[in-house]
Amino acid sequence: MKKHNFSAGPCILPENVFKKASEAIINFNDLDLSLLEISHRSKDFVEVMDRATSLAIELLGLQGKGYKALFLQGGASLQFLMVAYNLLNKKAAYLNTGTWSSKAIKEAKPFGELIEVASSKDANFNYIPKGYEIPSDADYFHTTSNNTIFGTSIKSFPETAVPMVCDMSSDIFSRQMDFSKFDLIYAGAQKNMGPAGATLVVIKEDILGNVERQIPSMLDYKIHIDKESMFNTPPVFAVYVSMLTLEWLKDLGGISAIEKINEQKAALIYDEIDRNPLFKGFAAVEDRSFMNATFNLVDDAHASTFDTMWKEARINGLNGHRSVGGYRASMYNAMPIASVQALVDVMQELERKA
Ligand code: PMP
Repeated sequence: MKKHNFSAGPCILPENVFKKASEAIINFNDLDLSLLEISHRSKDFVEVMDRATSLAIELLGLQGKGYKALFLQGGASLQFLMVAYNLLNKKAAYLNTGTWSSKAIKEAKPFGELIEVASSKDANFNYIPKGYEIPSDADYFHTTSNNTIFGTSIKSFPETAVPMVCDMSSDIFSRQMDFSKFDLIYAGAQKNMGPAGATLVVIKEDILGNVERQIPSMLDYKIHIDKESMFNTPPVFAVYVSMLTLEWLKDLGGISAIEKINEQKAALIYDEIDRNPLFKGFAAVEDRSFMNATFNLVDDAHASTFDTMWKEARINGLNGHRSVGGYRASMYNAMPIASVQALVDVMQELERKA
């Protein structure tokens, strides 16, 4: 029996995606060849890339709105740099909500004036700042929709006239929003989409072409758009598995269907954190992430008993990030509610024993 996998990423993917992906490694599309040994320019793989990019646009509800989807390499971390290279002329505004926003700010700094509109660093990023102002002359405004490490998420995005860029690495395809509010969305695949190695970039084409600097080809969105994500050899396996996961999500009923399940999972764990006197939540209640629930023991004396108990219950990946400590239950799209229930059972068992 499979373990209950609360890993923050790479993380759980749907069981039938693992199965189909493993079959494609042996014999892809009945070609009597592995997916890993055919040309990325073969008809069979070009179809995979086309389907993966069009499913991404369709699931986000962005068809016919001037967006292109790309599968690139270098992780979300390279997007910290590419965004600035392609969009930052003079000034950019960033909301600092955690480790990943801070890294995005660091990478963009050499390209122009960086305005940090607000930061929650003063409270170890346990909340989302609100009520800040975005300079109207900024080239763009950058946010991180879900803060994987601290377990916070932005529930409501500001109205602004400047282009909005969003790192959605840890909550893309998990909750409904008006994605057309954003001009550029990026996400490493390794949470809700597929294996590490591919990064989804969804970009409104008309925001490009406004910087004067020479952009190296591999960092130039325009080139990747013109070459349909095939400027160089794409990460074929990661794109294929992403396509399978997006097909799984579409069959399930899309983002609105998975959102309901994610809400149930989040309610189950947060209700227990709030009810059980042995635990306390880390993130501000109104900013709690539905993907990553962060929590601590009120008294660390229970830590070794709790750690033994959840490991015995075949739970994996529950340790918090070193900058928060405690525990982090990551409940991405593919996690069944039964796994969250298994964790809640252990928390209740600890209460009975303590
Ligand atoms: N942004 C967020 C919100 C993340 O969670 C992560 C990785 N966990 C990154 C960026 C960095 O992604 P990558 O490792 O793909 O560069």
